[in-house]
Amino acid sequence: MKHLRRWVMSLTAAVVTLATIVGLQLSTPAQAPTDLTLEVAGLTVEELADGVYGLIASTDFPPAEPATTAICNASIVIGSDGVLVVDPFHNEALATLLYETVATLTEQPIRYVVNSHYHFDHTGGNPAGDALGYATLGRGPIRDLMLTRNVDSDPNPTPPDVIVNGPGELWLGDRAVQLVEFEGHTGGTDLVVYVPDADVLIMGDLLFTQRLPYAADGNLRVWQATLEQLATAYATATLIPGHGPISDRADFDRLRGYLAYLETLALDWQAQDLSEADAIAQTTIADEYADYLFQGLFSSNLSTAYQQITLGQDDAASIQAYFAHQPPALQAL
Ligand SMILES: [Zn+2]
Repeated sequence: MKHLRRWVMSLTAAVVTLATIVGLQLSTPAQAPTDLTLEVAGLTVEELADGVYGLIASTDFPPAEPATTAICNASIVIGSDGVLVVDPFHNEALATLLYETVATLTEQPIRYVVNSHYHFDHTGGNPAGDALGYATLGRGPIRDLMLTRNVDSDPNPTPPDVIVNGPGELWLGDRAVQLVEFEGHTGGTDLVVYVPDADVLIMGDLLFTQRLPYAADGNLRVWQATLEQLATAYATATLIPGHGPISDRADFDRLRGYLAYLETLALDWQAQDLSEADAIAQTTIADEYADYLFQGLFSSNLSTAYQQITLGQDDAASIQAYFAHQPPALQAL
């Protein structure tokens, strides 16, 4: 229990750190600036297959202009009688830009908005779709996590109104879209979206490419196993990661390699009986990852590795159970 508490405190610190890093956006208005464009938002529209698009974010983290810069990628899937979008960014202005972009690509109506997981950089734009009557879909405990842990970073959390547990399939007229659960990045809310006829897989934050991952809310070992599973199950797919450029199977392996590198470091600290502070102080990032974006997350990654691997607190279920029995003030973290 003592270890768990230390782990939770560290996790809490990491979550708070992330919220602080990106908290800049909280002081900015949610209304869309009239001049918000894809270019201002740092987004490039890429067509991966007929009617399947990624809006790919270029920013480092944290962004210089949080109110108008997209942090994550969004995706658009167009069928013969409707459109599905994934991850409407972190505020209503950027979500509105996404919906305006859809209107330039098709006359079909938007029917579904999918949240790939609960983190606010992917869900803070939900109110825009809600106001327009779009159904928002998410998985597992996403409603609870958005209404508790997101409150500091999302002043108006608007959780999905449709919860998909187990594999799901939606039809956009003649086009099927599959929703599939995987584990590793956020406790029980990770959901990938697969478009079989185009062999495109929309990953959410189970995949970061050319960026250090946010890992404090995940499970380093489970995540590695998931990436191995994904690389086999979707070996030929074109991938839209949660953060980073359009990717392929090799990028599953690269992220898995980075998580394995964290695990190796943490086992070495364990063998040396190092304190967390000493472990972090003596570790510099390997050359292989030194040119990735999101370098500010490295110390948080090390802390996560120390807690989960060095101390052995790697049971994601235990932290969910722990939070569930804490008073609201702590659950709100
Ligand atoms: Zn993200």
